[in-house]
Amino acid sequence: MRILGIEGTAWAASAAVFETDDPDALRVGTDRTPDPSADHIFIESNPYQPDSGGIHPREAAEHMGSAIPEVVEVALGHAAERHDGDGPVVDAVAFSRGPGLGPCLRIVGTAARSVAQTLDVPLVGVNHMVAHLEIGRYQSGFESPVCLNASGANAHLLGYHNGRYRVLGETMDTGVGNAIDKFTRHVGWKHPGGPKVEAAAKDGEYVDLPYVVKGMDFSFSGIMSAAKDEADAGTPVEDISAGLQETIFGMLTEVAERALSLTGTDELVLGGGVGNNARLREMLAEMCDQRGAKFHAPEPRFLGDNAGMIALCGARMFAAGDTLPVEDSAVDPNFRPDQVDVTWRGTDES
Ligand code: ATP
Repeated sequence: MRILGIEGTAWAASAAVFETDDPDALRVGTDRTPDPSADHIFIESNPYQPDSGGIHPREAAEHMGSAIPEVVEVALGHAAERHDGDGPVVDAVAFSRGPGLGPCLRIVGTAARSVAQTLDVPLVGVNHMVAHLEIGRYQSGFESPVCLNASGANAHLLGYHNGRYRVLGETMDTGVGNAIDKFTRHVGWKHPGGPKVEAAAKDGEYVDLPYVVKGMDFSFSGIMSAAKDEADAGTPVEDISAGLQETIFGMLTEVAERALSLTGTDELVLGGGVGNNARLREMLAEMCDQRGAKFHAPEPRFLGDNAGMIALCGARMFAAGDTLPVEDSAVDPNFRPDQVDVTWRGTDES
């Protein structure tokens, strides 16, 4: 089985090919489990980089308009090189249906529909946040992990129960990466700010910032205002960066631990671009270690937005017969992970 994946929810115009000789392993209820070392994932990406400020939806969409056809062409060329039989070079076209920026998603949806119709293969509509989780589950081999998605526009904990990925806890305002990026824009650093905060924090002394966890949910807006106030008052950015990391990642780690405890699960996977941060991974790994849980962070190419995770999740869905008629394939900028029927796992697990 070979699946084309297309991603373009915000900044990464990306196309990928997922190939496996063992599609049965992608489903539950068989005696097979996936072997990532035997499967093949090829990714071609072209990131949008704003000249100043944060991601501008219209500019990002313009980028998608020119970059998506290019990355899809490269990925399809790669698929063609590996294709040795009759018929289409891929068995299905999977695309990010949401959540994301509407103008970008519409370009991705149009591209996916046109490729699927040209090749006469089915369409598969993938929830981008579920894909972040599924790539971690696939790579780790974990059965039913809790997932911390720490990305630009999102921050939440997901756990599987009775046919759906339930949102166990989430941000009450901005996504975690976007919150960090807002602070870095305030101090004049170019987008994306997360890696710069990580570098600066290495030379910083911890500064106290508001720690806001309410039950299973958390909030970043007060921390960001306080961090900006500190910068305006002349506190070194290195110190604020250290305070930001310890505070924000401490909050995420606390809620991740509570999610493990609540579900009784002993497996945690990480998803999203903020997962590139070594301090976040260290805190999560230490917490898991202390409670005897297993922790997995996907390799960097699968953490931030990428079409590899869309192709893999699309392959699971396609193997379960979960395809999408073109007339029902509208994108959804607010597509929540708990709206997805997890057809590839069945409803008999918890
Ligand atoms: P979503 O998956 O919600 O659509 P997105 O497209 O905005 O999100 P991702 O690609 O998952 O985001 O991640 C991008 C974010 O990750 C940016 O906000 C960036 O600042 C942040 N980031 C990247 N590297 C690091 C790092 N080393 N430390 C902290 N944050 C980081």
